[in-house]
Amino acid sequence: MSTNLWHERAAAQSIDGRAFIGGERVWAKSEQRFDNLSPIDGRNLGAVARCDGADVDAAVAAARAAFDDGRWAGKSPAQRKRVLIKFADLVQKYGAELALLETLDMGKPIKYSQSVDVNGTANTLRWYGEAIDKIYDEIAPTAANSLALITREPVGVVAAIVPWNYPMLMAAWKIAPALAAGNSVVLKPSEKSPLTALRLADIALEAGIPPGVFNVLPGFGHEAGAALALHMDVDCIGFTGSTRTGKQILQMAGQSNLKRAWTELGGKSANIVCADCPDLDAAVASAVGSIFFNQGESCNAPSRLFVEESIKERFLEKALAMMPDFQPGDPLDEASVMGAIVDATQLKIVMGYIEAGKSGGAKLLAGGRQARSESGGFYVEPTLFDQVDSSMTIAREEIFGPVLSVLSFTDVREAVRQANATPYGLQAAVWTSNISKAIQTARALRAGTVHVNQYDGDDVTVPFGGYKQSGNGRDKSLHALDKYTELKTTWIQI
Ligand code: NAD
Repeated sequence: MSTNLWHERAAAQSIDGRAFIGGERVWAKSEQRFDNLSPIDGRNLGAVARCDGADVDAAVAAARAAFDDGRWAGKSPAQRKRVLIKFADLVQKYGAELALLETLDMGKPIKYSQSVDVNGTANTLRWYGEAIDKIYDEIAPTAANSLALITREPVGVVAAIVPWNYPMLMAAWKIAPALAAGNSVVLKPSEKSPLTALRLADIALEAGIPPGVFNVLPGFGHEAGAALALHMDVDCIGFTGSTRTGKQILQMAGQSNLKRAWTELGGKSANIVCADCPDLDAAVASAVGSIFFNQGESCNAPSRLFVEESIKERFLEKALAMMPDFQPGDPLDEASVMGAIVDATQLKIVMGYIEAGKSGGAKLLAGGRQARSESGGFYVEPTLFDQVDSSMTIAREEIFGPVLSVLSFTDVREAVRQANATPYGLQAAVWTSNISKAIQTARALRAGTVHVNQYDGDDVTVPFGGYKQSGNGRDKSLHALDKYTELKTTWIQI
């Protein structure tokens, strides 16, 4: 679609910022609202309900009533499958609208809102729908005069709290397995990008998810989020966001009703390129493309690049030649590959890190400035720092912006030691044509996902999550169903 047409659609797009509770769109009980500004041009997209504890009580009560009367949990897996597949089909049908909302709300390029966020959301819903009627329970090999059944049951009321960087997709990674397993869900999207989660609720209802089974509460973390984490009638909380908030969520879960709590948190992923890497051009394209994807606002962004000293000069030459390709553009232009930073606060954080890199002694090779200021939105140039060492702030802290830090090494074991010297453990990569080195390095890297000679492997079939302070859970794959099911043993005397 042409850029003009996307802009026309954006101007005509209606925004409904009301919460979704018990199958209905409602404003917060307090009548409080907040303005939702678009990062692409600073425009006010409209008012959004500022939900708090009273709305959380209403949504949890609706979810509990729906769970208890079995209107969803009581359906057969095959029936839930049909509804989830219809849900997926409708996400695809409304794909252009959802992609537009995602880009207006969060700032990412429209082409990725379509290919990654909309398609990924539909695919996740469809996959869990397809999976759920193919999973069998177990009979344990106990004594001859007894039968011990091991069955999975839904946990009950699941709260899901998600961040702003992939608003719809992060929600899908939680609601798809939770709904497939028969739970009721209360979702709290980020206050920075709540619009697609709210539209998903309308679409779920249209698909046949019964009222009360899926509720969405926009609002702030310390209000709606904390009230959900502390709620005595929420059985399980799935959280994706920063490590700082993740720790609070675990505390709140513990101090309330000991609800199950699963966290998917931050990262500072290391990408290690050895001199014997099989394809230097591919390694450069992947290193640069992966850090600047989603404006660097990805938990698994490979923000620390370790390059073997003997190839570093050639590597950087090639990387610098690619920088112009990643200049931020109009997010509603399908040719743009970098869009806007989510809001003024995040822009300030990113610019602060760039200043810290400069004052900390790293060498700024490219970028480092704001861009497209005339738009009224929040844009940062793709930024490349060389001569970074592991003690620098930019090598230690998650920046969550388009900033790549280059470090060098002469012995891959030293690169691994530094790669692991972080509280995070989300992802890592190693590039080498030596199979033993690849496997030894992959084993030594303390991360939930390790890539060999690539960085962009991603599929709903594989678990996604971190070691150490990158979280204690896994989204995606059949393993994610463990989070949203209880195991019950039933002994039968025969
Ligand atoms: P954040 O922790 O600030 O907020 C995440 C969510 O938690 C939001 O909905 C927010 O409103 C809510 N929240 C904030 N404070 C809360 C509180 N006290 N109680 C309850 N809820 C609260 O994170 P963010 O800035 O939205 O997202 C960026 C972070 O998310 C980064 O660290 C990124 O690495 C991480 N992330 C991780 C994954 C993963 O799968 N591991 C995926 C995407 C993003």
